[in-house]
Amino acid sequence: MATFRKRALDEAASHKTERYFAENRPVSTYFGQNIFDLPKMRRYMSQPAYEAVVAAINEGAKIDRKVANEIASGMKSWAVEMGATHYTHIFQPLTGTTAEKHEAFLTIKNGQAFENFKGSALVQQEPDASSFPSGGLRNTFEARGYSAWDPTSPVFILDETLCIPSVFVSHTGEALDMKVPNLKSLSALSEAGAAVASRFDKSVKAVHVNLGLEQEYFLVDSSLYAARPDLRLCDRTVIGHTSAKDQQLSDHYFGSIPSKVEAYMKDFETEAYKLGIDLETRHNEVAPNQFECAPLFCECTKAIDQNMLLMIVMQKVAEKHNLKVLFHEKPFDGINGSGKHVNWSIVTDKGTLVLSPGKTPSKNLQFLAFYAAVTKAVYKHNYLLMSSISNLNNSYRLGGHEAPPAVMSIFSGSNVSKILNSIMSTGATPEDNDVKDAFELVSSVPEIHPDNTDRNRTSPFAFTGNRFEFRALGSSANAASAVYVLNTAVAESLCEFRKEVDALEAAGCSRQNAVMKVVTKFLVESKDVLFEGNGYSKEWAEEAERRGLRAVKNVPEAYKSFLEEDSIAMFKNMGVLSPEEVQARYALLNENYVKKLQIEARVQGDMCLNHVIPSAIEYQNILMKNILGAKEVFGDEYKELCKSEIDTYRKIAGFINTISADVDALCEARKKANVVEDGALKAKLYSTEVKDMMDKVRASADQLEMLIGDELWPLPKYRELLFF
Ligand code: ADP
Ligand code: MG
Repeated sequence: MATFRKRALDEAASHKTERYFAENRPVSTYFGQNIFDLPKMRRYMSQPAYEAVVAAINEGAKIDRKVANEIASGMKSWAVEMGATHYTHIFQPLTGTTAEKHEAFLTIKNGQAFENFKGSALVQQEPDASSFPSGGLRNTFEARGYSAWDPTSPVFILDETLCIPSVFVSHTGEALDMKVPNLKSLSALSEAGAAVASRFDKSVKAVHVNLGLEQEYFLVDSSLYAARPDLRLCDRTVIGHTSAKDQQLSDHYFGSIPSKVEAYMKDFETEAYKLGIDLETRHNEVAPNQFECAPLFCECTKAIDQNMLLMIVMQKVAEKHNLKVLFHEKPFDGINGSGKHVNWSIVTDKGTLVLSPGKTPSKNLQFLAFYAAVTKAVYKHNYLLMSSISNLNNSYRLGGHEAPPAVMSIFSGSNVSKILNSIMSTGATPEDNDVKDAFELVSSVPEIHPDNTDRNRTSPFAFTGNRFEFRALGSSANAASAVYVLNTAVAESLCEFRKEVDALEAAGCSRQNAVMKVVTKFLVESKDVLFEGNGYSKEWAEEAERRGLRAVKNVPEAYKSFLEEDSIAMFKNMGVLSPEEVQARYALLNENYVKKLQIEARVQGDMCLNHVIPSAIEYQNILMKNILGAKEVFGDEYKELCKSEIDTYRKIAGFINTISADVDALCEARKKANVVEDGALKAKLYSTEVKDMMDKVRASADQLEMLIGDELWPLPKYRELLFF
């Protein structure tokens, strides 16, 4: 057998199932031990320092530089006791991943060693980060970027390093990361939301967003992963014939978790618990070797930071288990890809979930107000929202019969729908119907109480009882990339809602009537985004188009929505991004798309020319030897005897020629695109000509995989990658 694959398979077979991080203590005794949370701050900091941090977290108050020294000193004492030797700001540049630069606490003075950590180092770091993409916001001669501590997210210790969640900005203050716009969008939403919520409860001063991020992922054996250049460099397979059995039987979904995987899950959960990440669920997903975990929801920024940290922890722990986690949206063709469902809700500082309908939703004006405002936001910016989750990775997944369709719509469920329809047609709400009765199956089984919410897996944006589930985000994405757009759109809509209610009240309308009028108006204006049916159906695609809802058909094309007047105005008016910052982000989205596809195309070409074709030739040689041998022994009869071998030889020759020509053409398509200066046009060429050529190359390579003797095939096959 091709030695590379054989060695990988042998190694994979020898990998053991073991626990490495097992704790023989209840989780509650070590939960959060590696984060510097409020109780630890109280212990390690003076009262003024503690109060300054609490005010920063709760009210967004600025931390005085003098107090920062005290905070830093407390943090350091704790971290050093915990065995930390270094500290780093950890930030989320526009690459979509996280970045860190470790600095030692150690300082030597007069020959004596000390651990030192100044307030200035806590508050700000200059990670000479000139190589991070800025979309033109920084010139190389003024390439400085600063990271600055974001106290709203807890500091933590990972691998003996004190990690300080930070924002990343240019020296003139433009956002160079995912966090800044998200923080700004939350502040806009808080202000706009409080202005509406305070109409129903005067004491409300702020609203917060809660997020629950479900994380899907694939696991593959680390040796098999290492034997596939595409997995190593692209996190997905760019060639590979489907396995005869994959997910047809739905026998993996919610199935019994394989013991190897369970050991791994328990280990990463243990490490996540120590970091205060409250993982609640784990299960098998639809595709073989695909799994999901979900933490308990929490405040938006914290949830996003925890998700980024969770992905790091999952990958680190996987190494111990000889596993690799594939967070890619579509690692394997022909089976389900992975998403990161965003459960999104709004809660007031008094603890009211404003999107919770309660027992009498028809009389719950606050619920109706927020529901209408969200509906209008999603309607007005439907294409922008879909674009915000669009990228190369997700384009391999969206629109297939597994993920939500690439067009936005809101699913409300029958109960809420009934209310909305009544409001839209009569301006008034219907009588509330009772919660569905419990039913009994057989007397020995406890009564079943059906939930009052429906499920519709085909909707990209579904109401699920007291929150919306934005289901289109890709599994590898930083959730902030889409959440800040949603927050901003809803903030804008709430501002408008409040203004219209105020105007009606000023004209003498009662509050109740004013609210109902604006709710009705908002719903009627945005009714086209409401859809209760099957989002995967052809009829819906046509219907959506008639309604003017644009589907994302081409990613670089969709990115243009960021530059549309409505988008620019929204980001500017809500104080989230300046037009220049939007422009920079737009440039980067295209750049990132091109670079990723460029890598995939190169890897594919390399794999075809250096792995696939040489194996095909080797197999041809075996066939030829057989044919020539037959000719020598049987004379002319060989033609009849070796019919199949000759036929296979010809087919292989055909594919070799096609692949060689297609890889050349792929290279030419890249060259043609690479010389184009305009970033958007370059991305467009990549998304059409380069991508199309890659599909062609793949088709032939996958055919060859079926023709060549298994022994000679050099790359671990789908069936090996997908089944332990
Ligand atoms: P499902 O797969 O059925 O959608 P999961 O249990 O996998 O449900 O995930 C649901 C996620 O939604 C969890 O992270 C949960 O904490 C979160 N969630 C529950 N209530 C809220 C809420 N009010 N706001 C935000 N997220 C929530
Ligand atoms: Mg789930």
